[in-house]
Amino acid sequence: MKFSALDMERFFTKVDFNGPTTVGTPCWSWEGSRNEYGYGQFWFEDRILRAHHFTFEMAYGKLPEGMLVMHRCDNPWCVNPTHLRAGTDKENAEDCVAKGRAASRKKRKLTPEQRREIGRLEAAGVPRREIAHRLNVCGKTVRVWANRAKESEKADDKD
Ligand SMILES: [Zn+2]
Repeated sequence: MKFSALDMERFFTKVDFNGPTTVGTPCWSWEGSRNEYGYGQFWFEDRILRAHHFTFEMAYGKLPEGMLVMHRCDNPWCVNPTHLRAGTDKENAEDCVAKGRAASRKKRKLTPEQRREIGRLEAAGVPRREIAHRLNVCGKTVRVWANRAKESEKADDKD
């Protein structure tokens, strides 16, 4: 991506640099539109970019093929490049497991909407890796709920 000074100006008018401090420095909160998963959205050359991809590429250059942009701060709407890093699917899954452990201590569960969404995306043929990334949950969590959704479908067929 090539960004002009105008693109940057347009971008940064939508950023609040005084977000919550999570990993030692404040998050840069995206005040523009966000998608249903909380990621900032920015129109660039007739398409919607994830806002954090914009600052990632501005700071570090092009994201290598097959890599994901991961948030160290866990705030999907954060565009602070120092809170972002490139990671592989495997790292993302491991990060997820580590965070999942923390989350299970807090007894965080998927909402019924998230569970339905997993079933819906799975039925639509969306790869589980992508489902996990979109819902910001572990691959293992997706696997469990996708299988349950399938089983309940099978049970419905029998009736
Ligand atoms: Zn952040």
